Amino acid sequence: MRTAPVTTAYGHLTWEDVRDADKDRVVILNVSATEDHGPHMPLDTDTVLGMAVAEGVAKAAPEEVFVMPPVPYGFNEHHKDFPGVIWIQPETLIAFVTDITKSLAHHGFRRILLLNSHGSNHPVLDLAARKTVIETGIICVSASYWNLMSARINEIRKSEIGGIAHAGEFEAAMYMHLHPERVVLEKSTTQNLHNADSKFFNLDLAGAGGGSDAYALVVRGIPGRHHGRPDRGQSRDRQKVFRRGH
Ligand SMILES: [Zn+2]
Repeated sequence: MRTAPVTTAYGHLTWEDVRDADKDRVVILNVSATEDHGPHMPLDTDTVLGMAVAEGVAKAAPEEVFVMPPVPYGFNEHHKDFPGVIWIQPETLIAFVTDITKSLAHHGFRRILLLNSHGSNHPVLDLAARKTVIETGIICVSASYWNLMSARINEIRKSEIGGIAHAGEFEAAMYMHLHPERVVLEKSTTQNLHNADSKFFNLDLAGAGGGSDAYALVVRGIPGRHHGRPDRGQSRDRQKVFRRGH
């Protein structure tokens, strides 16, 4: 007979497991995107990487978390010129995510982490977390996972500022660590759009640039649509990101 949850995977629990679960566990919900990641990486990049981080946390702290099935779509209409992209309006995403968090609160969970793995979701999930707190009174926070490990990334990075960006060194290294057969680095090119002359502009996920976000520059006219130095993802150091992340 099952007496306690034997898994950290929320979807594998029974309703009785949920009824009896420790409601102070942190419930992790990864929200990502289905979008182009250059010619060298798959559409599911953000979901694969975000869930790897969430599942790594669950492995390291199996008594303390549950991991929800991911939301594999996000706010990325600015990518729509690329075949395959599925975009969700920010209002829809906020409503959808807060329906999930409110369901969890209804079942008694008191601590939720919205773990973002797609850049443009960051402000959307921030609002979803704030709405959840206001409407339910539970603790709900959002975080983009690269911000939680930026110091470590900057320690081991091989590329210059701007190289850690969309489908660049960082994402390529992580995906290759997990599934090397799905990344074709030979198809990538270097596209560093960082402007070193600006104190304000930032196009580096590890925060090594200026303080302002890069959204205005995104999208059209960028061949292959990725930013950064995916070639630097070749490094054997790529697994170090995970080791520290876990
Ligand atoms: Zn990505």
